[in-house]
Amino acid sequence: MSQIAENLALIRQKIRKAAQSAGRAQEAVQLVAVSKKQPPERITAALTAGQRLFGENRVQEAQDHWTDLKARDPAITLHLIGPLQTNKVRDAVALFDVIETLDRESLADALAAEMIRQNRFLPCFIQVNTGAEPQKAGVLPENLPALLNYARGKGLSVTGLMVLPPMREPPALHFALLKKLAARHDLPELSMGMSADFEKAVPLGATYVRVGTALFGNRD
Ligand SMILES: *Cc1c(COP(=O)(O)O)cnc(C)c1O
Repeated sequence: MSQIAENLALIRQKIRKAAQSAGRAQEAVQLVAVSKKQPPERITAALTAGQRLFGENRVQEAQDHWTDLKARDPAITLHLIGPLQTNKVRDAVALFDVIETLDRESLADALAAEMIRQNRFLPCFIQVNTGAEPQKAGVLPENLPALLNYARGKGLSVTGLMVLPPMREPPALHFALLKKLAARHDLPELSMGMSADFEKAVPLGATYVRVGTALFGNRD
């Protein structure tokens, strides 16, 4: 078994245990394998081990990694988990299956127009900046209702929320806040938890955990 296959089995087992002890179905939590800055042979190893759901944070790099692989295997699903510039929206809509990082009205405008143009309607999550960090992407919690209304008014299918908690704070507080916001707005999907803390995100309601280094090893 490759190292990546071993890591994958271990992560899946941890997700299963965390779900079980929280009384959640293990199928309720999906693993997004974050393949950014990883060499192609590690991506191949993850595919060989059966992983089909991946996350990338840059459009250009995702095209390099995934254009050919996705053409050959339609079961591969790709989430955009990094900030999206308006001038990359065309490529993003063509390649990705879920946009996790909707965070402003101008992006909602561009995504809605492009999805109509391509006749390709992707679910979107709104990224919430729960720590109100000035350098970080995401909408402030108090501005979430307005952005949600706006995006839906444009015809976007917003199905969840995503968070990247501040580095120096206990992530559980931010996971709990995201869960509360999602419940308030009837949003079923919660993308939260990474290599260091995905087991904490599962009992707090994560439906997607985004795991990079624990699966693939350190990035370039
Ligand atoms: C890189 C990244 C991850 C994965 O981080 P790891 O600590 O390597 O698991 C998750 N989410 C986002 C938004 C990322 O950019």
